[in-house]
Formats: sequence, structure tokens, C-alpha cells
Amino acid sequence: MKLLACPKCHQQLHLENKTLKCENNHCYDISKRGYINLLLNPDKATNNPGDSKESLVARKAYLNKGYYDPILNQVITCIDEFKHQDDLSILDLGCGEGYYTQGLKKHFENSDVYGLDISKIAIDMATRYRKDVTWLVGNSKNIPILDHSLDFICALFTVVNQDELKRALKEDGYIVHVTANNQHLIEIKELIYDEIKVKSDKYIRLDFNQVKSYDFKEKVHISNREDALNLLMMTPHYYHIKKEKRGVLDTLQGLDITIDIKVTVYALS
Ligand SMILES: [Zn+2]
Repeated sequence: MKLLACPKCHQQLHLENKTLKCENNHCYDISKRGYINLLLNPDKATNNPGDSKESLVARKAYLNKGYYDPILNQVITCIDEFKHQDDLSILDLGCGEGYYTQGLKKHFENSDVYGLDISKIAIDMATRYRKDVTWLVGNSKNIPILDHSLDFICALFTVVNQDELKRALKEDGYIVHVTANNQHLIEIKELIYDEIKVKSDKYIRLDFNQVKSYDFKEKVHISNREDALNLLMMTPHYYHIKKEKRGVLDTLQGLDITIDIKVTVYALS
């Protein structure tokens, strides 16, 4: 919690009773569940920005079965390879319901781990994993973390603001960026769409010094209907299922899926 910065004036936040305060007297309460809401001017169009509750619940159930642990393990391996010490400060950007974040804390237990997401519902769910992660509702375009204070920022399947990454990372800090390749969950796309549009290159290169980059591909067997449906519901594809394809869901049992991702580690310097 020691690296928190006021989203309004970017001064350090100090804990006073159960309130976080900056020197300009901007105050933020710690919620009953233990997260801190540092989101300014929430989007007026929706009270709950981010993923829907239904999608988050499905996501949590699916991830907790360990099907995506190979992805988490890639991130852990990258951090282990580049870390300079054991007591790291790590931010999981766009952490959602927090599965990967809690996995990072479990592995790097001497580290100060932060999970940030714009969705209050997601962060509220994340607090149930563990209390020794600092769970933050906030905007990745205005990361509520002190300048040059983080060793690692992890960004898994999430949009990043490069200026903010640069500001929040230490001079010798790293970004671990995970993006989906074309074959990622191809089986789900085949199930739902008549025609699969292959995007030319979904991989968005960041404007930093690339120190490692590789593709990781693995087949995963989903053994039952419940897990397969949860996977469907946590992807945007679920909401694009045409009426005539709905029958597919009724007969869906297990499923073999492909994890196809690109893992890139960037250094600031
Ligand atoms: Zn302030």
C-alpha cells in the first residue's frame, strides 16, 4: 500500500484511521471488503464500467479450475528471469477478478503486489482471494501509483497507456505484456462464427526496449460442459452467438481449446 498516489494531485497517500489522505487533503476510504476506490469521474454512461458481472463470475469459475495456469506461469517465469531482488513491487494492470494477481502474490510472497481494474464489481470479487494484495479500483490512464516506483507492470490481455507505464515504472523496471495471437481460442470462434476473420496482427508492439518476446501455444482439454460454458461466457464471442448457432450450446460437452499468446518483456532502459 506504500506506493499509492492520489489520483487528483499525484502526491503520496498516507493511511489515517481507515482513510487514505494526501497532503492536499484529498481523501479515499478503504471499503469494507478492503479495496480502495481511486477512480475519478467514473464514466457517466454506466455505473459499472468494465466487464459484466455475469462474465466476471464465469471467468472466476473457469480460471479457478487452472485451465489458464500455463499463462500465469509464463508471466511468473519472465519476472523470475529479469528480477533484480526478491522484494518486488508488482502491478497487475486491468486485473479483472484478480486470479492472475493472486497467483503472482502466491509466488512472489515477499513482494508488494497491486491489482488495478476500472470495474468495482471485479475488484470487489478480487478481495475474496486474499487481503495481502492491494486491490484498487482505478483507471489505467491515471495509475494511482507514485512515479518510478514499480519493478514490474503486468498487462495481460488489456489495453495500456504507455505514458503511464513509463511514469510508474522504476528506471530499471519491466513490463510483461501478454497478447492473444490468431489461433487463441480458435475452437470457440469455429463454434460460433460461420466465417472467422483473421486479424492481420493483433499484436501491438509497445514503444519500449524489447528484451524478450516469444509465442506460447498449448492445447488445453476442458473436461465438462459447465467449464466449457464458463469459458464461452467469459469471452466477447458469447454475446455474438447467432440464434441459429444457439443449439450448439445445448449439446456442448467437453472442448479442446488452444492457448496461443505472445509474451513480451520490455525494459524502460
Ligand atoms: Zn491529492
